[in-house]
Amino acid sequence: MKLLEECKQAERIGISGHIRPDGDCVGSCMGLYLYLKKVRPDADIRVFLEKPADIFRCIRGVEEINSDFGEQEAFDVFFCLDTAADRLGGAEEYFHAAAKKINIDHHVSNSGCGDVNYVIPEASSTSELIYNLIDGEELDGEIAKALYIGIIHDTGVFQYSNTSPETLQAAARLISFGFDFSRLIEETFYEKTYLQTQILGRALLESIRFMDGKCVVSVLDKKTMEFYGASSQDLEGIVSQLRSIKGVECAVFMYQTGVLEYKVSMRSGGRINVSRIASYFGGGGHVRAAGCTMNGTSHDVINNLSLHIEKQFIEEQDT
Ligand code: AMP
Ligand code: MN
Ligand code: MN
Repeated sequence: MKLLEECKQAERIGISGHIRPDGDCVGSCMGLYLYLKKVRPDADIRVFLEKPADIFRCIRGVEEINSDFGEQEAFDVFFCLDTAADRLGGAEEYFHAAAKKINIDHHVSNSGCGDVNYVIPEASSTSELIYNLIDGEELDGEIAKALYIGIIHDTGVFQYSNTSPETLQAAARLISFGFDFSRLIEETFYEKTYLQTQILGRALLESIRFMDGKCVVSVLDKKTMEFYGASSQDLEGIVSQLRSIKGVECAVFMYQTGVLEYKVSMRSGGRINVSRIASYFGGGGHVRAAGCTMNGTSHDVINNLSLHIEKQFIEEQDT
C-alpha cells in the first residue's frame, strides 16, 4: 500500500482508532496525524478518539483530538487504525460514510474492513506499520516519539514475542531523533498512580488459580471500582501481572461494565490461543493477548471461558 498515493486527491482526511485507546492506538493515530499534516498542509485533517489517558499528553497534538463525535461532513479518506470498524465507537459512522476507507491494523482477528486494507498480524504494532508506510525523509522527532510510544506499549518495552528484528530496527531509527526515550518508557509505561497500584494489589490479592495453577482469574466488580474511584484506564497492566505468575499459561482479568456485563482481558504464554476464544465471544485480538465483552454473572463468564481454555489444552495433548 502506498499511503500518500491513497490520499493524493483527498481534501478531508479523518483518522480514528479503537475505543478505550491504548498506547499503540494513540501513538499510531497521532503519528499518522502529525505526518499527514506535514506532507499535506493543504488538506483538512482530523483525528477522533475517546479522550486518551493523561500519560499521553507528552505526544505533540493530543489536545487537537476530537472526542465529541458530533455530525461531520463526509470524509474523502478515513483511516481506521489498530482495530476493525466495529470498535471505532463514535467514529464508526464517519468511517462508513467516507468515500475511501483505509484499515491499518495488526490484529489476527481482523480480516480487513476497508476499501484498502493493510492488516499484518506479524507486526508488533500498528505504530510499526505506520512507520513502514510513511516517507522516512519526512520523519521528525515528534512523529518518532508518537510511534515509539505505540511500539513500546504493544511490545511491553520489546519484551513480548511480537518484537522482531524489524521492530528493533524501526525503534533504532526512531530514537536517533534524540528524544528522552528512557523517561518516556518510565512515565508512560511503568509509572503507576497510587490508585492504580492499590487496585492492582487488590486484583492480585483476590485472584484465584484453577486448572492446577495453569490458569488464573481475577474479577473487579463495579462497587470495588467505585470505592477506589478507578476507571478502565487505571486497570491497564493488571492482566499481564497475573500472566507473570509462575506456572500460569493463561490469565483472565475482568471488570464489570454494566449489570451482568464484563470487559474481559486474556493473556497467554503461547500454548493457548486467546484470540480464538475472544473471537468466539464476539471480541478478538492476538494469539497471546485478546479481549471481549461478555454477559452474565462473573461465574457464568469464567465457566464459559474455562470450557474453551480446557478444550485447547485437550487439543494440545491430542496432537
Ligand atoms: P485488552 O486486554 O483489552 O488490552 O486487549 C488485548 C488485545 O486484544 C488488544 O490488542 C486489543 O486491541 C484486542 N481486543 C480487546 N478487546 C477486543 C475486542 N472486543 N475485539 C477485538 N479486539 C479486541
Ligand atoms: Mn490497541
Ligand atoms: Mn496494537
